[in-house]
Order: sequence, then structure tokens, then C-alpha cells
Amino acid sequence: MPKVGITTTIPIEVVYAAGWEPVDLNNSFITSSNPRLLVEEAELAGYPRNICAWIKGIYSTVRQNEEIRTLIAVTQGDCSNTHALMETLQLVGVKVIPFAYPYDRDYDMLKLQIEKLMDAFEVNWQQVYEAREKLNAVREKVWQLDRMTWQDNLVSGWDNHFYQVCCSDFNGDPDQFNRQVGDFLSGIRDVSPKKEKIRIGYIGVPPICDDLYAYLEDREARVVYNETQRQFTMPFESGDFVEQYRKYTYPYGIFYRLEDIEREIERRNIDGIIHYAQSFCFRQIEDLIIREKLSLPVLTLEGDMPNTLDARTRMRLDAFLEMLR
Ligand code: SF4
Repeated sequence: MPKVGITTTIPIEVVYAAGWEPVDLNNSFITSSNPRLLVEEAELAGYPRNICAWIKGIYSTVRQNEEIRTLIAVTQGDCSNTHALMETLQLVGVKVIPFAYPYDRDYDMLKLQIEKLMDAFEVNWQQVYEAREKLNAVREKVWQLDRMTWQDNLVSGWDNHFYQVCCSDFNGDPDQFNRQVGDFLSGIRDVSPKKEKIRIGYIGVPPICDDLYAYLEDREARVVYNETQRQFTMPFESGDFVEQYRKYTYPYGIFYRLEDIEREIERRNIDGIIHYAQSFCFRQIEDLIIREKLSLPVLTLEGDMPNTLDARTRMRLDAFLEMLR
């Protein structure tokens, strides 16, 4: 199966319909044996220090993986740095297929983009809908896992993050991932419900530090809502394929995202929000809108390099939890 790198969630059904294997480069980077080294290698290649670590990690991940010679780069609706990322990868011979989410969620523009992607992979609508049926069966299991997080209190914040974030590419093997989710769900049916006193919503891009969830749970707080990761599961019923990617909030403006965030805060009975912002990310600017619009306490955390939580961040988390308590 040929592999294609992706820089964020795209209409993945098109890739599977064509018999290609998608590789979410964010997940490959952060789960590699030494993600910090990948960031440093990009800097050695000439990437500036004041550019987000995810971009540098993705660059080195592709450079190291000989199997990834094609990349789908989201040129609108994700990250402005992607433009330069794809150009530096084109320079070393990687073929780039651009994909753009229209800022205003225009149906016709989005349909056109999807059809251009379908042309690039030489698939038709019937094949795409068949692939979608298979992926939706897996997504439904992950929706159940999410419900078991906030409704039944059986799932940790980390597991909720992990299984949802994997839905960007289904780990390159939907059948295997389907079994993995099924095993997880069977395993937690008998565990006792969690009893944390504080319910946290996590919004923003997925964290670059991997111990946040455990740190909170050690202090009687649990993440019961992972905004962006949940969006990767396409958590809305939709008969129409284009509509499915119109409802997906992450690539569109902050105000559309906030509608989803506010709905879930209410539904999940959330006490406080952690807004994660990556160093050198343009999305940090949106923090001021989030603070203005949300009526419950918000803690903004910034992460830079792949790492565990630093002392300052741990102290800020402690103070935030104390205040919520
Ligand atoms: S964290 Fe921000 S700057 Fe970094 S890749 Fe994501 S959108 Fe781009």
C-alpha cells in the first residue's frame, strides 16, 4: 500500500478509497522515540528557532521516512506555516497535493476541493461513500468511548485523547484500530466509575506534553472533553459527505468552534477550561476571543518542545484547580 502523509485531518475516505495508507505526521512525530531530536534536526536544516515545534517535527518525520513521498498539505483551515513546510519538502522531492477548507464553510467550494482530491487519487463518489461506511463504523465506537468518558465516567482523559486523536488516520489500518477500540471498550465495562471532583474541558490543538492528563487526575480533576481530538472523529450525524466536513469545526473560524465548545461545556457539566496554545502558533491570538466569550474559568497553557510539564506550568495548574475547588 503506498503511503501518503497528512498534516491534519482531511477527507480521509478519499485516501482509503484509493487504496493508499494515510500517515498523520503529527502522530508519527510525537510518538517517535525522540521527538525533541526531530525538532533539532529541522533547526539544523535551517528552520528558525521561533517556529512551532509541530511544523519542525513534521518536516523531519517526512525527511526520515523514505516511504512517504507524497503529502496532502492543508493550505487553508489549519496552519499558515504549512505553506513553507510543503515548499521545503517539495525542495527535497516530495510530491505535495494541496487541500483547502473554505474559511466561510461554503458548500460548493468545499465540494470542489474534495473533488480535486478525488481526482488526484483517481476515485469516484461511490468508492468514497463505501470507504466512509467502513470508517463510520469505527467512528461510532469512538463516539461511544467519548460518551463513556463524560456520561459514565469510565474513561480517563488520556484514553479519551488518544483514541480520538487516532481517528485522523485510523493509525493507517482501520480494521486493526477497530479491534483495538473494541478491546478497550470491553475492558472498561467492569471498572468502577471515576470520582474526580473537578471536570475539565481541554480546548485547542492537542498537547505537545504527554503528562497533562495524568497530572490532573492525580489531583482529582479529569478531562471529560477534548475539543479538537473529538472533532477528528466527525462527531455529527450526516448523510452527506461534504456536509460531514462542513460540520467538522477545527478548520473554520473560532466563532464556529465556540458554538461547539459552549454546547459541550453545558452538556458535560464542565467546571473549568484549559486552553492549550502552542508556542509561536497564530492560534494563540484567539485566546483573547475565547476568554471574552466563555463564561467559566479559563487557564491558558503554552507548550513549546515535546516534554513533560515544567515546574511553572505545574504550579499554574495547581492554582487553577485550587480556585475551581
Ligand atoms: S500548533 Fe499552530 S503553528 Fe503549530 S502546526 Fe498547529 S496550527 Fe500550526
